[in-house]
Amino acid sequence: MLVGCVVGHDALLGPETEPREVAEILDRHPFLPPPVVDLCRWVAEYYVAGIGDAIGVAMPPGSRRASSIRTQRVVAATAHGLAALEADSATRQAPPDHPGPTPRQRAVLEMLAGAPAGLSTSALRERGVSADVVRRLAARGLAATREEATERDPFAQAALADLTHDPARELTGEQVAAVATLTALADAQQFRVALLHGVTGSGKTEIYLRLAQHVVGQRRQVLLLVPEIALTPSAAALFRSAFGARVAIQHSALSDGERHDQWQRIHRGDVDVVVGTRSAVFAPLATPGLIIVDEEHDTSYKQDETPRYHGRDVAVVRGRSAGALVVLGSATPSLETYANAVAGRYTHIALERRVLDRPLASVRLVNMREEYADEGPDVVISRPLAAAIEERLARREQVLVLLNRRGYATAVFCRQCGDTFECPNCSVSLTVHRRRGGWTARCHYCNYSMAVPKTCRKCAAPYLEHAGFGTERIEQQLVERFPGARIRRVDRDAVRRKGALTSVLSRFAAGDIDVLVGTQMIAKGHDFPRVTLVGVISADVGLGLADFRAAERTFQLLTQVAGRAGRGERTGEAIVQTLYPEHYSIQVACRQDYPAFYERELVYRRSMRYPPAVALISALVRGRTFDQAMHTAAALVRRLEPAAGRVPFTLLGPAPAPLARLRGEHRVQFFLKGTRRVAMREAVRDALAEMPEARKRVTVDVDPLNVL
Ligand code: ADP
Ligand code: ZN
Repeated sequence: MLVGCVVGHDALLGPETEPREVAEILDRHPFLPPPVVDLCRWVAEYYVAGIGDAIGVAMPPGSRRASSIRTQRVVAATAHGLAALEADSATRQAPPDHPGPTPRQRAVLEMLAGAPAGLSTSALRERGVSADVVRRLAARGLAATREEATERDPFAQAALADLTHDPARELTGEQVAAVATLTALADAQQFRVALLHGVTGSGKTEIYLRLAQHVVGQRRQVLLLVPEIALTPSAAALFRSAFGARVAIQHSALSDGERHDQWQRIHRGDVDVVVGTRSAVFAPLATPGLIIVDEEHDTSYKQDETPRYHGRDVAVVRGRSAGALVVLGSATPSLETYANAVAGRYTHIALERRVLDRPLASVRLVNMREEYADEGPDVVISRPLAAAIEERLARREQVLVLLNRRGYATAVFCRQCGDTFECPNCSVSLTVHRRRGGWTARCHYCNYSMAVPKTCRKCAAPYLEHAGFGTERIEQQLVERFPGARIRRVDRDAVRRKGALTSVLSRFAAGDIDVLVGTQMIAKGHDFPRVTLVGVISADVGLGLADFRAAERTFQLLTQVAGRAGRGERTGEAIVQTLYPEHYSIQVACRQDYPAFYERELVYRRSMRYPPAVALISALVRGRTFDQAMHTAAALVRRLEPAAGRVPFTLLGPAPAPLARLRGEHRVQFFLKGTRRVAMREAVRDALAEMPEARKRVTVDVDPLNVL
């Protein structure tokens, strides 16, 4: 038995389709609003996915089970009960024929009188009220109980910063101008996209908020997309303080039940504003007038499973069909978005200064080749960075230290025979982690792990060494070097437990931690006013990757992390350690010169024919053996060749993927490059239709962000 979703009346049934009987109709009324169904159709079409996959992301979790709606018992005072309470207070004496409430019942009635909507039995229990008292009150008609669907408060979970919005705050000149331009665009009530391109700390959130209030004032709704709630809690917190109960929140850290509740509130029209991550772009809002995508460049907007949609691009499509204003905000826009602004398709609004004329952090480069020459090859924290941390600790200011690589060491190798520890399932070397006194080697892709032995497995020599370093090693070195400092680490290993990330971040915000070491998780939109120093351990971690976006990622990461320093009253500084101080993505990030980066990067993308100069589609074929994967990929490519000549587009590959083996499967990859995306997509769809037996082993990615 399967749950199906009716998306139209004229579905084409092939001759071999065998209709089945409908056992039950779950909803009499359309479950998803028709515009959302249309959006799903677009997603399925554009990303070469099935309509069922696309509908799946728009549905609230657990929507296929009625039992997912949790209920609670709510107790409220009846009119009779309230009257009795009043009479009792007036006379303080019970008439003999009409016994008044007992003192305990009276206390409960008083509580209930103060809560006209009633109190849940669990809330009463917390206040020491037993079920027995409630039963007696109900038996006497003084109180009534009812079943009600619960709505769990997800904000309690996300433990949002206790930010309150100050409506009287004076906007800066740039903010005033931006709000004026954007409200004018919103008032036109027509589809338009604006890029809000503001340096870090220029006060973009405040602009979103004022604009949202304006649009809500016109009885239209607002959708705010953020990359990750825990990493950008301030926008969600501010919106909640400004819109109160008229906000719903949707993100992956919520339980299914919580997300379901929020989804139902939006569906019922109980909210004006939805704040959420990627999938909230499908929120069942009736009349969105404004869609904001904060940190639009963030890669977490791209879903890395089918349908491989990009939340920002779907937001633009939704805005177009709703006739809404779409605002894309970033200090480091993606090349795609900036190119649209340069071409005049998007309105470009620039904020070039930080609020209150705070200067941007100054950036100092440390050439690690010189450090190695002076200090030996094992240096991890350079002399200038160590000195700067020391200074901040003495002044009781805070420090962020970024290294975008987890673990203690990147590899283990034998000094005698050169053997290394590779994952048996994936073509990567195992990362070394320190675990309770011992060493573990773990695969970051499939989670395979093993204890690191004392001697080499091949030659038995006791000369196993660690190579490379990750966040765990930085943390250890800092602890040894600054014994008095309170140092914590933030990466996927350190904050595995639910709520751990929020807890570390709020302790850092409260000043209970001096130094935060972490991966790109600490580089996102945080606003910690007491951070005056940001250290970047290896700026070039990503530069060596065979990904055409490597320079863009590096530029964004460095600019964003440097943007975390000096957001309060004291000026900030960033110290960037690198082996390639002359690389342009590092140079321009130091100057925080986005236009220079764009010009330079676009020349490269054009000459190499990469997006945004052309459209790219990648196809990954998996197989039990390399030959099987290669064989299928080659067959697909052969079927694409006629279209490639006709449309035309370029076919690259098939070739082993850079990660040639993953979780025991072999991977072969090929690409389509060209300017006619629609025709390219159709060609892929047709080729796959001819090989239905291979479909399950092929992953198509339209506009891929990750080509590894
Ligand atoms: P961005 O997202 O552009 O990096 P934020 O929106 O986080 O910047 O704002 C940076 C800081 O400036 C926040 O602490 C915010 O409260 C503060 N801020 C924003 N607007 C103003 C203003 N008009 N006056 C004073 N402070 C402001
Ligand atoms: Zn593995």
